[in-house]
Amino acid sequence: MTDLLEHTAAELLELLNSGQVRAVELVQACLDQIARWDGLVGAFLQVGAEAALAQAAQIDRRRQVGEPVGPLAGLPVAIKDNLCTLNVPTTCASRMLADFRPPYDATVVQRLKQADAILLGRTNMDEFAMGGSTETSAFQKTRNPWDFERIPGGSSGGSAACVAARMTPLSVGTDTGGSIRQPAALCGVVGLKPTYGRVSRYGLVAFASSLDQIGPLARTVEDAALLLEVLAGHDPKDSTSVPRPVPPYSKTVGEKLQGLRIGVVPEHYTEGLDEEVAQAVQEAVRVYRSLGATIREVHLPHSKYAVAAYYIIAPSEASSNLARYDGVHFGYRTPEQAMRAQLEAEEALLRRTGNQTALEELDTPLVRMFRQTRSEGFGAEVKRRIMLGTYALSAGYYEAYYLKALKVRRLIRQDFDQAFQEVDVILGPVTPSPAFRLGEKIDDPLAMYLFDLYTVVTNLAGICGVSIPCGFSRLGLPIGLHLQAPAFEEDRLLRAAAMFQQATDWRRRPPLEKLVARRP
Ligand code: GLN
Repeated sequence: MTDLLEHTAAELLELLNSGQVRAVELVQACLDQIARWDGLVGAFLQVGAEAALAQAAQIDRRRQVGEPVGPLAGLPVAIKDNLCTLNVPTTCASRMLADFRPPYDATVVQRLKQADAILLGRTNMDEFAMGGSTETSAFQKTRNPWDFERIPGGSSGGSAACVAARMTPLSVGTDTGGSIRQPAALCGVVGLKPTYGRVSRYGLVAFASSLDQIGPLARTVEDAALLLEVLAGHDPKDSTSVPRPVPPYSKTVGEKLQGLRIGVVPEHYTEGLDEEVAQAVQEAVRVYRSLGATIREVHLPHSKYAVAAYYIIAPSEASSNLARYDGVHFGYRTPEQAMRAQLEAEEALLRRTGNQTALEELDTPLVRMFRQTRSEGFGAEVKRRIMLGTYALSAGYYEAYYLKALKVRRLIRQDFDQAFQEVDVILGPVTPSPAFRLGEKIDDPLAMYLFDLYTVVTNLAGICGVSIPCGFSRLGLPIGLHLQAPAFEEDRLLRAAAMFQQATDWRRRPPLEKLVARRP
């Protein structure tokens, strides 16, 4: 049944609506694909086979008797594990939330349920979405379906890998500094970060609240439009969501933009940029020119400070958001008896040795519980962010770091405002290189952070951006093209992306069979 899985979501919807394919068949095909490949790829933390098949059967029945169904009826969608889903484990790939079952649905989950999408499973991610390789997950590694020795990108690595590996036609990710676009680029799929305020974050486990957005991953631009249309819209439960109507993205996505003005940014072509990526992006510029677009140089002079500003702002907000995991309100708590026994043993020792000062400084049981819970529940990268953020926000450093970073952020936004007076869309690379090897950068936080230089600007500016496939490296690894548009211009962004997709042929299937044969 793998051929069925080659269809795009839009095609599958037609097959379902016309009765040529049943939702049960489609769900079963996805489950078979997962059973066959996910042992290697590791995209899913959990798959809800039974519930999905039952829901699919119900949708088939409703279609048969002519009952109206939702806009995504019967389409399997995978969800990143930081989106709260009623009674379904929502772990953020953290030990801290290993047993957390939310008592409510995130708004996007509710919208997907209302659209009759089938929530097939939960995808792996970097712990609390902090990372760019999905390696900080407390539970498992996810492998890039184009090369099992390489990372799928992150933090929405599971969501990108499952779509690339044909396990689901659609998935949902989140993007705080690139976490939808970067894995989409590295796995050769489409990933869109909507404008800040376009999609409700109610029920998203917060990382950095002034940057977080939820968005679609898919294999085509049309499919991303289809999913975005369901996800987007005002929600009174998220005060940052904007009360603007949602344009019919899926209807307009195929319409060409006349007189499209594309901005290219000389600052993008720095030393760190891999030559093959630079070439693929330059080739994309030629494609747009041949489609009648005009190309202009625009400048984003402050983008060179973006990584520095982002890695102050995001950890600062994270340190505050993660304060709630104290073993009392949420999630994991260190085993009480072991902790008390340890505390008593320490106390007895100090009494024996007569160390009065150390005795006075000994934690109270409550403080010890906080400390131990957090040191056992969080992984190294999350702890690093909490420490960075706490430092940047502390008295005496706040002005020098956090406030300064906010000022840089404003300048970055102004650069974009100015650039968008001259051009409609800004084009560039998504990542400095194709996917790197598992383990290659994980012990070098600075190298990991620098990998984010092209994507964090979009979040800092609050605008929208998309990654679409634009080529392959000599090693056969996908390369992504980054398009960015002004706030709330997702319609323009999608149409510009679709023009490129129609003119090129970069949609390919990862060589899963060959990779298995090659594995030692
Ligand atoms: N890689 C970036 C980080 O580690 C972005 C993560 C994200 O967008 N969630 O913070």
